[in-house]
Amino acid sequence: MNLLNLEKMVIAGPCALESREQLRGCVQVLKKMGVSMVRASLWKPRTQPGWEGLGWMSLPVLLEETIPHGMIPATEIITAEHALMVVHALEHSGPDARMIVWLGSRNQNHLEQKKIAKILATGPEGITFMFKNQMWDDERHWLGIHEHIITEGFPRERLMICHRGFCPGKAPNAKGYRNLPDFEMAMRIKEKTGLPMLLDPSHIGGSQANVLDICHQASDYNFDGYLIEMHGDPDNAKTDAKQQLTPGQLNGLLHTLRGAAVTKEVA
Ligand code: PEP
Ligand code: MN
Repeated sequence: MNLLNLEKMVIAGPCALESREQLRGCVQVLKKMGVSMVRASLWKPRTQPGWEGLGWMSLPVLLEETIPHGMIPATEIITAEHALMVVHALEHSGPDARMIVWLGSRNQNHLEQKKIAKILATGPEGITFMFKNQMWDDERHWLGIHEHIITEGFPRERLMICHRGFCPGKAPNAKGYRNLPDFEMAMRIKEKTGLPMLLDPSHIGGSQANVLDICHQASDYNFDGYLIEMHGDPDNAKTDAKQQLTPGQLNGLLHTLRGAAVTKEVA
């Protein structure tokens, strides 16, 4: 099954993988919500020096706690070395194993983007590749990332995009968004590339309340899915504590987004 055929996909989970137990708990509640794609990044780009994620040593944890449970793991990758590790690990995870990897907003070295795209293109077909917009507001640059990836031969059928807003700079920002969305631009990029466009309300909003508000605004646009941060104990998260939803909040949001009741009880 091609991931990209799924209607309104939801990728949810913690900003960062913090421990096996944390991921196990998230997988349990996400399953109950009918979410099968689990984000939990291993490598965290940081604005200031700090905790940088558990790194490659936790790649087995990410795969072991998801794939055997019918879940699809998702993580940001930053370097070609990370891409090689992911390809190697997925090759050893069985013929049906699938995984989502993405380029984050800060990863704008086109030489590295090309290396990553080339490595992933030669990896297992279970890999879906996603790229976010860069931090600054520039349609041409965002389209350029797409061109770099395609030029390296990564198949369009397994490629998707994610809008995570742009650095607010000095623009008016009454609600205090962490990044400002440009839904119109996201829709133009979707049309020009012909690729699915997901929305990341977490890194746009920067707070739990804003995440809900942004999803509400975006419902007027034709996004193909969502990348949403959820943590079992957001107050004590190692990264992005303010914006990660609790399981209960995510469940409520999914009810609204899906427009139908999710009857299963969430622990
Ligand atoms: C993330 O998704 O955890 C992340 C770091 O996002 P961005 O690249 O949008 O800041
Ligand atoms: Mn985050």
